[in-house]
Amino acid sequence: MTQLTLALSKGRIFDDTLPLLRAAGIEVLEDPEKTRKLILPTNQPDVRVVLVRASDVPTYVQFGGADVGVAGLDVVLEHELGPYGGGEGGASLLRPIDLGIARCRLSVATRADFDYAAAVRQGARIRVATKYTQLARQHFADKGVHVDLIKLYGSMELAPLTGLADAIVDLVSTGSTLKANHLVEVEDILPVSAHLVVNPGAAKLKRVRLQPLMDAFRRALAAST
Ligand code: ATP
Ligand code: MG
Repeated sequence: MTQLTLALSKGRIFDDTLPLLRAAGIEVLEDPEKTRKLILPTNQPDVRVVLVRASDVPTYVQFGGADVGVAGLDVVLEHELGPYGGGEGGASLLRPIDLGIARCRLSVATRADFDYAAAVRQGARIRVATKYTQLARQHFADKGVHVDLIKLYGSMELAPLTGLADAIVDLVSTGSTLKANHLVEVEDILPVSAHLVVNPGAAKLKRVRLQPLMDAFRRALAAST
């Protein structure tokens, strides 16, 4: 029997993927918030779920720790631009389905009293703090804006408030976190939703098991729009 391993991250990606799995006849048999296990069985003996950090999903899938995964486009593109990415040679992962879940956007935000437009116009060097250094580098290079990037792993909103940076590049959904920290969104970089990512080798070798799963996802998505 061909085993299928699906990489998910706890939280919104896991929660929003469950209904799609259910539509494909797959029930995850344990609740990630209640167990300390990292490998979760499903009602299908040949399908298991592995729980990894959101930003590790592409790595697991690319190197075969999982056959498929669900990851935000932010995480997928950051991975493709990074050291493990396909670079000029193309993608290291297949991205067959936009699942339309976990929607948000990648944006530039600053303190309300920082004149971003003027800084850009004057060709000033802007200090930008972000978890998404690759996507930020590409965005500002495309715009011809000079930036010094500062890599952070969380609480990006704090950076402009403490003087660590002039701006941040971070995910925004409702904008309430920015607002609570007196920051304003000054530029949209990328609309984000979660995608199914597939290991290219598994796509071939496990096609018979993967195809019905993808068909069920597509039917569920078509029915919900
Ligand atoms: P880690 O916990 O490993 O640092 P993370 O905090 O980015 O990762 P989540 O907050 O679960 O993990 O986010 C996972 C994905 O969900 C993100 O990569 C993004 O695509 C999407 N996402 C993040 N924040 C939001 C949001 N506020 N609204 C909707 N989707 C979001
Ligand atoms: Mg988080």
